[in-house]
This record gives sequence, C-alpha cells and structure tokens, in this order.
Amino acid sequence: MKFDFEVFWDKFQELKPYQQCNERRNSVISHMKELSNQHINCQSCIGRCCTFEFNSMQVTPLEAIELYGYLKREGKWDSALLEKNIQDFRLDKYLSSGSKSLRRYYTCPFYNQGAKGCSISRKSKPLGCLAYNPNEINVSAEGKCTSNTELLENTINDHQKTIDFCNEFIAKELNLFWKKETIAVALLDLDRIFHP
Ligand code: SF4
Ligand code: SF4
Repeated sequence: MKFDFEVFWDKFQELKPYQQCNERRNSVISHMKELSNQHINCQSCIGRCCTFEFNSMQVTPLEAIELYGYLKREGKWDSALLEKNIQDFRLDKYLSSGSKSLRRYYTCPFYNQGAKGCSISRKSKPLGCLAYNPNEINVSAEGKCTSNTELLENTINDHQKTIDFCNEFIAKELNLFWKKETIAVALLDLDRIFHP
C-alpha cells in the first residue's frame, strides 16, 4: 500500500502523545547549552564520535520519521548518499554472535568532516546524539567525551509512555518489521513505503 508522507505526518503530529513527547529533546538541549556556557562544546573537534571508529547509532521508528521529515522539508534528502552508506558499511548484512545480534559501527551519512560535523538540526536528531558531549574544554578527539546516561534515561523515562505509543503507532500504520535500525537502513525503508 502507498502512503503519502505529508498526510501521514499531518495526522501523526495531531496525536496528543506525539505533541507531549515532542518536547523530550528540550532538557538535553538545555544541558548542551549549559555545557557550552562553560566553553565545553565540540567546536575544536572533527566529530570522531560520528565516524565508524565510535558510532553505532540505531534509531527507533519515531526517531527515523522525525529525521525523514526534516530531510524532506529541508531539501536534504539524498537516497544515493544513504545507499552508499549501507554499501560502504554493509549495513544490510545481519551480524550475530550466538543468540545476540551485533551492532554495526559506521560513519553516519550526515557526518561532514570538520568542526560542527553533523548536518542535522538539534531538534531533529536522535536523543542519543544530543546526550553525547565532551567532558572538558577544547576536546579534539574521542576519549574525553561521554554520554550523559543519567539525563538520557531520565528524559526517556519521563516520556516513556508517549514514546512507546508513537513507536507502536508508526510501526503498525506503516507495517515496519524493525524496532531499531541503523540510520540509513531505517530512512530508506521509510522512503520505500512512501515512494514504492
Ligand atoms: S562529542 Fe567528543 S568526539 Fe564527538 S564531536 Fe564532540 S568533542 Fe568530538
Ligand atoms: S545524526 Fe549527527 S550527531 Fe548523530 S551520528 Fe549522525 S552526524 Fe553524528
């Protein structure tokens, strides 16, 4: 079945649970601003945390649809970039060790080498990306940065019900078979649904 993204998105945005969990990034962004006021930011770094050396980001259906909408609205959608990312890092190949599936490490398709390496707005990127910050000033390499897991967990816990509702709603409406996927795989799967 073909879905029109704009129709789906308009309907989705009207859902109260989405309106409630849409504010979940605010506390993490405020924390980033507090760090930045202390000159603790990523300005001196080329963003190695977004490269295959350290990045294994997986997104939920909610995170994927927010990112998808952002890319389409901003005219930044690039199927070829995402397909190349999947090929380069073999993201379409299932990896497992015994009963456990292994996370893939890959350079994010939205990583631009250099300071301010991420090309995605703070309001549209995954929470996990926002919560990962340097611990001190003038950091220029990974190793001096951590994920603020306490803030991340508290933020998710505060919005757990509405986040779960949104993920289940999107998965059911669009017949998604995944709960978490690498960024490129998730986005191209959505695009296949909206543009079969
Ligand atoms: S979080 Fe750390 S590794 Fe990532 S861009 Fe910022 S300073 Fe660099
Ligand atoms: S979305 Fe941005 S911050 Fe997150 S992994 Fe990709 S380049 Fe890095």
